[in-house]
Amino acid sequence: MPRIPTVPSRLPQVGTTIFTVMSALAQKHGAINLGQGFPDFSCDPRLIDAVERAMRDGHNQYPPMAGVPALRQAVADKIAALYGQRYDAESEITITAGATQAIFTALLAVVHPGDEVIVLTPCYDSYLPNIALCGGVARPVPLRADFRPDFAAIAAAITPRTRALLINSPHNPSGTVWSEQDMRTLDALLAPTDIVLIADEVYEHMVFDAAQHQSASRFPGLAARAFVVSSFGKTFHVTGWKVGSVAAPAALTAEFRKVHQFNVFTVNTPMQLGLAAYLADPAPYLGLPAFYQAKRDRFRAGLAQSRFELLPCSGSYFQCARYAAISDLPDDAFCRWLTQQAGVAAIPLSAFEPDGRQRGVVRFCFAKQDATLDAALQRLRAL
Ligand code: PMP
Ligand code: GLN
Repeated sequence: MPRIPTVPSRLPQVGTTIFTVMSALAQKHGAINLGQGFPDFSCDPRLIDAVERAMRDGHNQYPPMAGVPALRQAVADKIAALYGQRYDAESEITITAGATQAIFTALLAVVHPGDEVIVLTPCYDSYLPNIALCGGVARPVPLRADFRPDFAAIAAAITPRTRALLINSPHNPSGTVWSEQDMRTLDALLAPTDIVLIADEVYEHMVFDAAQHQSASRFPGLAARAFVVSSFGKTFHVTGWKVGSVAAPAALTAEFRKVHQFNVFTVNTPMQLGLAAYLADPAPYLGLPAFYQAKRDRFRAGLAQSRFELLPCSGSYFQCARYAAISDLPDDAFCRWLTQQAGVAAIPLSAFEPDGRQRGVVRFCFAKQDATLDAALQRLRAL
């Protein structure tokens, strides 16, 4: 018999991500999938045309390592127009295989074994395993009960070994959005330190009620220490394309690219060229807050007639809700029950917690056609 090596796991606590698990369960039971965050509608056909044109025009070989120049320039111009920070496309913008790779690469670039990284919990599920794979030590700092940052707790978690801080606004899973004052407080807190900021801003174009996205790039003190991460998948309804971007000062970008070149090396060319052409028109992303706000309002209005208790949602495409009036199951068991018995998949909030903390809250994704939302609401109101 050939011998299969026994390997000690690099991630002994980790199983398959909750998003994959819940999507598979939804499919198995024919449930409406409001779990994993992705749209069930298609992107703008003009974007497909632009990608197809790039392929037919023969742009099918490796692009430059840091990304197609036209796309890097388009990203730099967009950041300058929206947030007032001028990044150099050549030395400060890198195109990545989605935000997930961007965040992992940024961590690999700066975190040495034993370095501490502060994460605010609940947090996106890749952060903690990413830190572990770097040999770093995660320092989870709980967000307040209303999911806003607790700056006293963040300050208390800073030590001489703190290498980086990860933030995420608009926030997955809570839909909380950091205010300008939050960012100024963070700026003042980090100013005397060498802490690198990794700002996960994948939902930058989903901020509601006429509020502004407070990108780290808006604040010179933060921009000087930040990897600012975004994702075209979220912005243009193409999560499966896995293309994202990172903006960071040249010195940080140089370190980032040292890792990036030996990780993915490059990201697929025709998608990049298509996105570059499509970005010439700002209307699609400038219209996104209104588009998703209408979906949020529709979903909230429907859920308000159910026994779920709505939590606030100021951004992202996620709506959280308490289910105490419906069930006393732990949240993961409740989500399985909901998928199998009620025919609607959701994500348990404990999946975003390092210690599996129970809040009796689940997350629904409202990036769905109105008909999908209405069908799900009908089932949820029946509970
Ligand atoms: N960060 C957060 C907060 C997310 O919700 C997601 C979406 N899955 C990502 C990062 C990853 O984005 P991408 O699909 O571009 O890798
Ligand atoms: N970001 C999406 C979510 O939070 C899905 C990401 C994934 O499936 N890894 O649901």
